[in-house]
Amino acid sequence: MLKIRTALTGAVLLLSLLAPLPAQEGLDLKDLDPKVTPCNDFYQYANGGWLARNPIPADRARWGTFNALLDRNQQILHKILEQAALAKNAPGSIEQKIGDFYASGMNVEQIDRAGLAPLKPLLDKIDAVKTTAELQPVIAELHMVGVDAYFNFYSQQDYKNSRLVVGAATQGGLGLPDRDYYFRADDEKLRQEYLKHIERMLELTGQDKKLAGPIYQLEKSLAEASYDKVKMRDPDNTYHPTSLADLQKLTPHFDWTAYFQRIGLKDLTGLNLETPEFFQRVDQILSQTPLEEQRAYLKWQLIHDLASTLSQNIELEDYRFSSETLQGTKAQLPRWKRIVAFTDRYLGEALGQKYVEQNFSPTAKAKVKKLVENLLAALRDDLKTLPWMSPATRQAALVKLNSFRYKIGYPDTWTDYSSLTIDRGPFASNVLRGRAFAVKLDLDKIGKPVDPDFWYMSPPTVNAYYDPSNNEIVFPAGILQPPFFSEKAPDPLNYGGIGAVIGHEITHGFDDQGARFDSQGNLKNWWTSEDLAAFQQRSKAVVQEYSGYEVEDKLFINGELVVGEAIADMGGLKLAYKALQMQEPSPAKIDGFTPEQLFFLGYARIWAMNMRPEYVRLQVKTDPHPHPRFRVNGPLSNMPEFYQAFQCPAGSPMHRDEAKRTEIW
Ligand SMILES: [Zn+2]
Repeated sequence: MLKIRTALTGAVLLLSLLAPLPAQEGLDLKDLDPKVTPCNDFYQYANGGWLARNPIPADRARWGTFNALLDRNQQILHKILEQAALAKNAPGSIEQKIGDFYASGMNVEQIDRAGLAPLKPLLDKIDAVKTTAELQPVIAELHMVGVDAYFNFYSQQDYKNSRLVVGAATQGGLGLPDRDYYFRADDEKLRQEYLKHIERMLELTGQDKKLAGPIYQLEKSLAEASYDKVKMRDPDNTYHPTSLADLQKLTPHFDWTAYFQRIGLKDLTGLNLETPEFFQRVDQILSQTPLEEQRAYLKWQLIHDLASTLSQNIELEDYRFSSETLQGTKAQLPRWKRIVAFTDRYLGEALGQKYVEQNFSPTAKAKVKKLVENLLAALRDDLKTLPWMSPATRQAALVKLNSFRYKIGYPDTWTDYSSLTIDRGPFASNVLRGRAFAVKLDLDKIGKPVDPDFWYMSPPTVNAYYDPSNNEIVFPAGILQPPFFSEKAPDPLNYGGIGAVIGHEITHGFDDQGARFDSQGNLKNWWTSEDLAAFQQRSKAVVQEYSGYEVEDKLFINGELVVGEAIADMGGLKLAYKALQMQEPSPAKIDGFTPEQLFFLGYARIWAMNMRPEYVRLQVKTDPHPHPRFRVNGPLSNMPEFYQAFQCPAGSPMHRDEAKRTEIW
């Protein structure tokens, strides 16, 4: 939930329909497009063959090289779950929990028979609301099952005192992917579709479809008072420690004392109010919007959130809007794939234990650890020679670098699921309990010392993250596999793959957000003013460069949204290259390529991806990661080592003029 945590890729990565590809260890020459000159468009040169041979499956919004890895991971999880569902497991064991959770998700007949019954206790409570005061306990109850009605509440390390875990309240409560969707002129058709979708869902759940308009208007009002994604990226904009007394003054119609009590935090005396203006709007809505409309909104939020766990007619309507309309898919994923993903979401560290037993060897862990150390050493070396930084800031940057912590594969202590009941009853009931467990796990952190062993991603996840409050980088076992990493692959491919990923996460510690946090994870300036000005100047150049990238006709990247990820891509690639150079030289060519060329090909192939036009739009508008083509061509066109490796003459598209080059780390 912590908005500032930065991952390697943004959107939720679901898994695939195609048969799993064999684990790829070397380079497959068929993936290249020899008709394209590497100096004109390296992304196309390195991936053109692959892109042409791999159309997007009907049930996917996008399809990339590492979908093969996602597929393989999912096949493994599927087998584990099928076995657990069939076995006679000890009650309360993790095998029983993952087996029953999966079995209940696959039991379509029971899901259809149950209908809305699993939600009925909550729906009844919403229906019983007769006054504004009575609304509030219901909002707290919805929050306790992870439905962010009106707003979001969660735990957070205090930005300026990272050892303190505080409560944070932030904007939320929308049904569209982002606040801008409610206002952008070119989304008018989508808004009409959304309104019709709400109407159909109301009909399917036995409610008056005339309430769709008011529900939409309420969301629009929340959206209007919400910050946009660029504003949310700046931690100064979202840091407002606020006492209980001041909260109460700001929002006289919301009883915070009662709210804290209901969510189990009666001793809380304040919180970080990320977006104060938004809460004034919530207060206005609570006191001025007719109760019938607010009840309809709360029911909609609950049903909308749980729709994919309910009967097939509701699930299908939800799929049509959230996947077909918003992302352009042509078919629904098979049920087992969806339920595997659900199990990973709610029982990730139970399923993850089984996953790593089979898929992550101690030797792989040792090899990745060595890679991380080599990448950190490369940055240490780089910092010493960086031309634009003064000795004082350089020293502070080294202190930050030397305090970096890293986690590889899986946690040392697993989440204890003993208080979570999972049975073979209706699937939505299991999901509701899973959500309540996750919320409680999160809220229980407030007021306690930081748990240094906590992981924000499950072990099978194909992703990685940097956490500025802990100054740590984290690599789940799921990504430490081909094509990112293989114990048998030649060094240049591993450095271009997982090496660049590790470098990317390290550089997040020094991107436009990460650079604001010190070695202890506190939002505190450690720069001299001249160096800070130079850094900001360079960040601005990255914003300008990326804003100039046109993804499709008139659809440009939002430089201000992607600047952090772009800096991490550029820095990560440079560090990985440098770390490779610091190893034993391997002069031999493989498949006719020098080690340097292999490195860049290894990097480019992890981003090969076909995307549906609807998905491209969603990605460009909401994802802080640049479009894949520019995750390759952006960093490479700024890198002299690349021009050298492929002998790209000055003036070629992949060889940027020196005056226009950007380099930060
Ligand atoms: Zn990132």
